[in-house]
Amino acid sequence: MTRPFQKVVIVGAGPSGLLLALLLSKHGIPVEILEASHQLDQQPRAAIYGSPAIPDLKRAGIIDEIRRRGMSPRSVCWRRFEDHSRITGMDGDVLADVDGEDLRMACLVLDQLDQLMLDEYLSKYNGKISWRHRVVGVGQDQDQAWVDVETPEGKKKVHADYIVGCDGGTSTVRKCLFGPEFPGFTWDRPIVATNVYYDFTKFGFNDSSFILHPEHFFMAARITPDGLYRVTYGESSGLTWEEMKERQPWKFELMLPGHPKPHEYKIINMSPYRMHQRCSPSFRKGRFLLAADAAHLCNPWGGLGITGGFVDIGGLYDCLAGIWDGKADDSILDLYSEKRIEKYETIINPVSQSNFRRVSDSDPDTLLERDPVMQACKKAENDKALQKELFMSAFDVRYDFTQHYRKD
Ligand SMILES: Cc1cc2nc3c(=O)[nH]c(=O)nc-3n(C[C@H](O)[C@H](O)[C@H](O)COP(=O)(O)OP(=O)(O)OC[C@H]3O[C@@H](n4cnc5c(N)ncnc54)[C@H](O)[C@@H]3O)c2cc1C
Repeated sequence: MTRPFQKVVIVGAGPSGLLLALLLSKHGIPVEILEASHQLDQQPRAAIYGSPAIPDLKRAGIIDEIRRRGMSPRSVCWRRFEDHSRITGMDGDVLADVDGEDLRMACLVLDQLDQLMLDEYLSKYNGKISWRHRVVGVGQDQDQAWVDVETPEGKKKVHADYIVGCDGGTSTVRKCLFGPEFPGFTWDRPIVATNVYYDFTKFGFNDSSFILHPEHFFMAARITPDGLYRVTYGESSGLTWEEMKERQPWKFELMLPGHPKPHEYKIINMSPYRMHQRCSPSFRKGRFLLAADAAHLCNPWGGLGITGGFVDIGGLYDCLAGIWDGKADDSILDLYSEKRIEKYETIINPVSQSNFRRVSDSDPDTLLERDPVMQACKKAENDKALQKELFMSAFDVRYDFTQHYRKD
C-alpha cells in the first residue's frame, strides 16, 4: 500500500515527544526524535498525570507499567495553613472502574516515566533517536519540511513529511514559525519544587494536599510508593536562587506540619520555576505542528501541564494515523490546531488559573463560602456518584478527532 507520507520527525525527547514517538511507531509510522541534550531531563517536574491522559497512556501500552513502578494516588484535598486541618477533598478511587476501565490518575516521577517510554520506543519499535541534535532553524516547501540541526559532527539538515515541535516552553520550532512572542503572561510569584522524604502521614496527610495561604501556600503530594513527597511552595518575588535556598529551612519549619528542623527531613532535589499562562497563535504551520509545552503553558497547580500535553499528543496521533491510513486528509491537522487551542482557552487556561488563585487566596478562611469548586467537593464528600461525575467532567479537555475520519 502506498502511504500518503513517509516519515515524522519529533523535536524533543521530553514526555510529549516520547509519547508521540511511541504511539506513531506502534502504528507502524517511521519516526525520528531529535534531542538537544545528551540525556533525558532530570529536573523535578511533573509526577502526576490526570485522568484525561490515561486513555492515551493506555494506548501507548504503558499504563500498567506506570502504575506498577509508581502509584495511583487516591485523595486530593485542601487544608488550612494554621493547623493543617482538612477543609474538603475528593477520592480518586471512584474512577477505578468506569465501565470496566481504570481511569484513576497515575503517578510516576517524570524522569522515570521518560525512561520507561524511551526504553519501550527503542526496544519494542527499534526507535530512532539522535542525541546532541539541537534544532536551530526550520524550512519547508511543497514536498517536504526540514530542520537545521547543530550536532557534534557539525551542522546538518533533517527532512520529513511532518515535523512536530515537542521542544518545551522555550521551543525553537515555535519561535521559528511564529516569532519570539508567546502570547499570555508570567505570574509574579516564583515557586520552588522540592522532592523530600518527610513523613506527612504522621499528621494525617494522604496523597495530595493543597495548603491555602496568601504567602506560604504549598502543595504536598506523595510521588513514590516509598514515601517521597513533592513539596512545591510559593516564594517572594525578587529573590535570587541563592536567597531562596537560604530561606528553604525557614519556610519548611514555618509551613510543614510538625514544623520540622532540617535534620528531620531529607531533600533529594530542589528547583525554582516561573509560572506562565501562554498559548501559541496556532499549533500548525504547513508541515510543522506544535504540541504540549511548546504549544501552551500553564501553572502546575492541579497538574494540568503535561496532562493537557498528553491529550494534545493523543489527538495529534489520531490525526496523523488517520492520514497515514487514508481515513483523513491533511486538513485534519488544521482541526487539530483549532480544537486544541479551543480546549486550552476554555479549560486548561481558566481552570489552572483558578487552581493557583485558590491555593494563594488572600482570605482562605472564607474561601469555602466563595469557591464553587470547593463547594461542589464538599457537597460530594459522602456521595460517590457525584464525586465520579465531578472527576469525569475533567474529560472535557479531550477531543475526538476520529469523528472527522471519512465515513467510507
Ligand atoms: C514544578 C513542576 C511540577 C509539575 N507537575 C506536573 C504534574 O504533576 N502534572 C502535569 O501534568 N504537569 C506538571 N508539570 C508540567 C510538566 O512538567 C510539563 O508540562 C512537561 O514537562 C512538558 O513536557 P514537554 O515534553 O512538552 O516539554 P519538556 O519536558 O520541556 O521537554 C522538551 C525537550 O525538548 C528538548 N529540546 C528543547 N529545545 C530543543 C531544540 N532546539 N532541539 C532539540 N531538542 C530540544 C529538551 O532538551 C527537552 O528534552 C509540572 C511542571 C513543573 C515546573
